[in-house]
Amino acid sequence: MLSYQHVYHAGNFADVHKHLIMFIILRNLLRKKSPVTYIDTHAGRGFYSLSEPESQKLKEYKKGVLPLWRERAALIGNERSDEGLLGEWLGELSRAQGVSAKQLTHYPGSPWWLSQALRHEDRLHLFELHPGEQQYLEAQVLPSNVRRHHGDGLAGLQRMLPVTTPRLCVLIDPSYERKQDYAEVVETLTFVSRKARHAVVMVWYPLLPTGQHQLLLDGVKQAGLRKLWCSELKLHTPGQEHGMYGSGLLLLNLPWGLDRQIENAMQRVAVCLGNEAGHREYWWVEE
Ligand code: SAM
Repeated sequence: MLSYQHVYHAGNFADVHKHLIMFIILRNLLRKKSPVTYIDTHAGRGFYSLSEPESQKLKEYKKGVLPLWRERAALIGNERSDEGLLGEWLGELSRAQGVSAKQLTHYPGSPWWLSQALRHEDRLHLFELHPGEQQYLEAQVLPSNVRRHHGDGLAGLQRMLPVTTPRLCVLIDPSYERKQDYAEVVETLTFVSRKARHAVVMVWYPLLPTGQHQLLLDGVKQAGLRKLWCSELKLHTPGQEHGMYGSGLLLLNLPWGLDRQIENAMQRVAVCLGNEAGHREYWWVEE
């Protein structure tokens, strides 16, 4: 039974965290000519209007993308390299607004961010299980080298390996509605690391007061995976209340040098998100 719908959360601080890091990684992958297959195992509907009643219900974008959007005049065109990355990302976000480029009316999901990086020789596979979300995704106008699959993303990813392109980049972004999701992600990541040793894989996880993400981190360590790096963005310090206080991204095979770039860009994001916000990065398992 799937109840999660990302439209209630679109543009929140976790989306900013995940999509800005994706943007930095994609930019790096584009520096080489060899083709890339991208696989997004949990695509969502792809593009979100922030004026929908669902987005307006929780208004999470107000504590996520909106504070950054308000700073964009200072950040876009800033040539200092790592702050420049945040500015470039905001420039892309501005392009996603279409004719209303001066106003933040929409927030693009991972299929959009991945599509922007696609070259003719690359491939993008999008998996979505929720029938309603899949219908929205089908309605998106996307390049012809994008394939949409209605089905389970983790099983779909495993079936696709090995891919035909020299490089592979994967986003695993479950909603963690079921506790077993953590173990299934560990199993999938282990499988990917065996079948595609150099794949760059991004796994998103929530930071919850219950500390459930430790199941994921301990699981991949116990499975013997190496070259695992984590980025964690906290919106506030964990308190007694339920709910997500931070956003985590586990990276398998982070390209060399990106840890510094991401850290610098995310420190800037944290400043925009308020006094309690903070970012830390660490190698969970080195080479
Ligand atoms: N990756 C999207 C983005 O960044 O814009 C957000 C994805 S949202 C957190 C998770 C999505 O996964 C939901 O749309 C949900 O319907 C879908 N989902 C849940 N279980 C799934 C599964 N087993 N396979 C594929 N999609 C699934």
